[in-house]
Amino acid sequence: MADFSSEDRYLLNLYHKLPIKAWKGSGVYLYDTENKRYLDFMAGYGVAILGHCHPRLVRAISEQAKRLITTHSSLYCEARERFLNAFMKISPSTLDHIYLCNSGAEAVEASLKFARKITGRKGFIAFTGSYHGKTFGALSVTSNEKYRRFFEPLIGPVYFGEYGNLDSLQKLPFSHAAAAIVEPVQGESGVRLPSSDFMKELEDKCKKSGCLFIVDEIQSGLGRTGRVWAHQSYGIKPDIMTVAKGLAGGIPMGATLVTKEIANRIEPGDQSTTFGGNPLACAAGVVIAEMLSEPNFLNNVSRVAEELRRKLSKLSTYKIFRELRIAGLMIGIELRIRFNQVLIEALHNGLLTLYSGRNTIRMLPPLIIKSKDVESCFAILDKTFQKVEEKMFRS
Ligand SMILES: *Cc1c(COP(=O)(O)O)cnc(C)c1O
Repeated sequence: MADFSSEDRYLLNLYHKLPIKAWKGSGVYLYDTENKRYLDFMAGYGVAILGHCHPRLVRAISEQAKRLITTHSSLYCEARERFLNAFMKISPSTLDHIYLCNSGAEAVEASLKFARKITGRKGFIAFTGSYHGKTFGALSVTSNEKYRRFFEPLIGPVYFGEYGNLDSLQKLPFSHAAAAIVEPVQGESGVRLPSSDFMKELEDKCKKSGCLFIVDEIQSGLGRTGRVWAHQSYGIKPDIMTVAKGLAGGIPMGATLVTKEIANRIEPGDQSTTFGGNPLACAAGVVIAEMLSEPNFLNNVSRVAEELRRKLSKLSTYKIFRELRIAGLMIGIELRIRFNQVLIEALHNGLLTLYSGRNTIRMLPPLIIKSKDVESCFAILDKTFQKVEEKMFRS
């Protein structure tokens, strides 16, 4: 058994830890210090979209590290310019200005601040089941009571509508709100997809009342659902979009994209960050943007996602299985029992997964997975479900 004592001794106790000491990674695999190999469908919470240590990413980062690691955004920078040129090719055409930061929560903070400045209004609209991060602003539009309770008063007022419910939109005070923020697919609450009608009606209500429409693509974006941006499947056009997680393939990076109209009202000092747009993150981000521009890359996501959907639906024969929810390579398997036993047994069998709530096993695998990884994932889950049921029904 690995020795976990230093992390347990010194780090604040903020995470539910799994008993793995990560050592190295290669492609879809993560290895611990005992050299045990895991099929990594956690992928750093969906960050490792190219898997671990992809040669192109490693090369870009090492070459940049030898040349220049840090430059503030008050200077122009060659790597940043390369990133912008590559990234703007894959971003929605109406969102043609960008703020570069270092994480998802920061991208959300900026979006809320911009919305207040542009509209002169204070309130926000958000939805049940939402997750937008844990800084004060981002937490204010996150619905989970467990994350909020010790930190009130938060930024407000925030009005929560029911995610996916058209009727609940009618009751929300759009004309008093600076912005409405929504995830195209909710990840933290177990992979939930609203209808197109809901998303279109939300967009329409925003546009008619001067409330800005923020789409949080931090988890669903960058090819995760088989399109570059998940919101494109609803035919909607946000005023602001937030991106982070896999944006630089694992180097911390976030971004807030806005329309020209918003950009015209933003001035120096409204927002800034020391590390945002640093050369190392930008050099890594170039690789991600270039890979996403290659048509075969997204075709692979759609193809393996369909294979995975077909395979995983076979788990429905198990008593502990309740429902499979899947949007490209955003996967939720809702169980009739708590996730813990299944997660730990899968880990034991060499598959690293995530969870949502109490009952859902969630997976955000690298976007480069192949058919053989789909087969392995299914084989491990099949064995895992069998084992868990044996244990349950034996006693
Ligand atoms: C992860 C996530 C965030 C927060 O990002 P951090 O980098 O952890 O601050 C915000 N919104 C969504 C949808 C996320 O998945």
